[in-house]
Amino acid sequence: MSLGEIRHWVFDMDGTLTLAVHDFPAIKRALGIPQEHDILTHLAALPEDEAAAKHAWLLEHERELAVASKAAPGAVELVRALHGAGYRLGILTRNAHELALITLDAIGIGDCFLTEDVLGRGEADPKPSPDGLLRLAARWDVAPQRMLMVGDYRFDLDCARAAGAHSALVNLADHLQENPWPELTDWHAQDCAELGRMAGVLV
Ligand SMILES: [Mg+2]
Repeated sequence: MSLGEIRHWVFDMDGTLTLAVHDFPAIKRALGIPQEHDILTHLAALPEDEAAAKHAWLLEHERELAVASKAAPGAVELVRALHGAGYRLGILTRNAHELALITLDAIGIGDCFLTEDVLGRGEADPKPSPDGLLRLAARWDVAPQRMLMVGDYRFDLDCARAAGAHSALVNLADHLQENPWPELTDWHAQDCAELGRMAGVLV
């Protein structure tokens, strides 16, 4: 399938549609999580009380970031163009659903997504699990092979592969000179503007 033929697009949010602002090392220090651990996996293994308190801290921290979100280059233009062309659009994020809605509104594209097509960490198993993509595939009644997952990190690409969907990588972190995951990547663009041109929806 060519990129231009795919009409079901799912976006990662943080670092893909927005500029990356999460300081994960600082979050881990604040929550007493070893740097080499995954935050959500670590919290899931804690006693219930401690996990609840740390999830509450995380939510409050992320709420402040959500309100101040800035769009990534080309993100608003790409989403608007896809929405205007009648594409089906979803969000699959490890952030919380309510914060995803705040973030999408903050950058001006909240109206391009149905609320139920915005899946956060409470609505699906977190990436790299394919769970969220498979839920959207079922909701949309489309084969995962006809879907595209767009993200800025390896989890997004792994998730696409595990679901049998196509993958696109954008906004590769500055410290990475080239794509470290070529075997997981179907399309690689510098940013959403370039991806939109590759898909034929932006000029
Ligand atoms: Mg991301």
